[in-house]
Amino acid sequence: MDAFRIAASLLCPLLAIVNLGYVALCAWRPFRRCRRCSGRGSLGSERGLRRRPCHRCDGTGIRIRFGRHLFHEASRIYRDGNR
Ligand SMILES: [Zn+2]
Repeated sequence: MDAFRIAASLLCPLLAIVNLGYVALCAWRPFRRCRRCSGRGSLGSERGLRRRPCHRCDGTGIRIRFGRHLFHEASRIYRDGNR
């Protein structure tokens, strides 16, 4: 067995473990902090002048994870196809 096959045989289970971990994370905590406002829900200066709600998260400070969004889209497509 050459070095490439050894590296591939070690990498495949590692990728599977990483993917299963992300699926578990999306099931356990479907929301994450908004990157635009760092979870504060508003943008503007620190002193409070001209603060306005964040447009990305609509002022909530949280955003849905991409994996959870994909799961919702897939379940919506499946539901729409089986009416
Ligand atoms: Zn935000």
